[in-house]
Amino acid sequence: MRLILLGPPGAGKGTQAKFLVDAYGIPQLSTGDMLREAVAAGSDVGKQAKAIMEAGKLVSDDIMNAIISERISQPDCRKGFILDGFPRTLEQADALYHMLEGKGMEIDTVIALEVDDDALVERISGRFTCGNCGEGYHDKFKQPAKEGVCDRCGESDFKRRKDDNPETLRTRLFAYYKDTAPLIGYYHAYRKLRTVDGMADIGDVTKAIRAVLEA
Ligand code: ADP
Ligand code: ADP
Ligand code: ZN
Repeated sequence: MRLILLGPPGAGKGTQAKFLVDAYGIPQLSTGDMLREAVAAGSDVGKQAKAIMEAGKLVSDDIMNAIISERISQPDCRKGFILDGFPRTLEQADALYHMLEGKGMEIDTVIALEVDDDALVERISGRFTCGNCGEGYHDKFKQPAKEGVCDRCGESDFKRRKDDNPETLRTRLFAYYKDTAPLIGYYHAYRKLRTVDGMADIGDVTKAIRAVLEA
């Protein structure tokens, strides 16, 4: 199964991708995580992406297409994958189509998570993750069972993203509505789009996504 999770920053793509990884045994390909790793490693891509990400703008299509093309060629993607944060422009969507076409593959389903802007601001401002295993949390909506300790790995090294501040979020939302939201029409035209109410509780969103995938 080859899936795309589409939605604005903070919609719950990463949160839901983790459940889908467990449910279907296919990898999550988060371009945001890949770029943050590249920045941390100080690679060429990381050097080019750092300031752009801190400003909340989009990294170039050429860089992103190269990263994804390389990633989906890895053996663990043969059974399928969950794209989280890619494609983000029409050009990336077209490039993805051609990458897959070359392998005799296509995207099966695009799940669009719909969330109000006010809720996105609240979700982004309360977001933190485990620096060790990457598990995602929220100050209000998803606290660790034991305060200060990761449910998944037991470590106590939580991180907040530098770009998760109200000012940068405004730029990111602008980029979303201008460059990424047109993908909703694009995938609708290709009959791939399924819309899910992302305002519901985390568990209910998971159920709605599974219902869509199992229909
Ligand atoms: P995205 O990957 O789309 O940017 P995340 O999955 O990181 O979004 O979610 C953003 C924040 O909102 C995280 O702190 C997460 O725990 C929280 N969150 C995710 N889904 C929901 C939900 N349905 N209701 C409330 N909070 C949520
Ligand atoms: P979120 O889902 O919270 O908006 P991500 O972790 O997906 O954030 O992305 C963080 C940042 O990485 C984006 O603001 C952008 O600068 C960059 N980025 C990630 N994926 C892409 C992409 N497909 N195209 C361009 N830039 C990207
Ligand atoms: Zn952890």
